[in-house]
Amino acid sequence: MQAEVRTYKMKPVSPRVQEKLDKSYEESLGLAERELRCPNCGRLVCVLFSDAGGHIRLLCKNCKTYSTYNLGYFRRQKGFGRHKERMLRGEDCSRQRRSSYR
Ligand SMILES: [Zn+2]
Repeated sequence: MQAEVRTYKMKPVSPRVQEKLDKSYEESLGLAERELRCPNCGRLVCVLFSDAGGHIRLLCKNCKTYSTYNLGYFRRQKGFGRHKERMLRGEDCSRQRRSSYR
């Protein structure tokens, strides 16, 4: 017997809201992204764009804690400086495979 596929109630997105979503996506294309991780367990809780600011309260789905973040205090990312240096030198920034696995 085949398992029943769950369906969720979803309301259709209005054209006005869809227009805002499309515009938001287009504006975000030129921005850099950074990850915001839970201070308690390290799980990714949010992806922020470089123009994000102010305060935000997020729920970590792993440890179920609400945390309030001032995004001004969470600007730096560990290891990003090296990544930025490589980008400025024009090197390939994609992850490279380790030759020891061959
Ligand atoms: Zn957590």
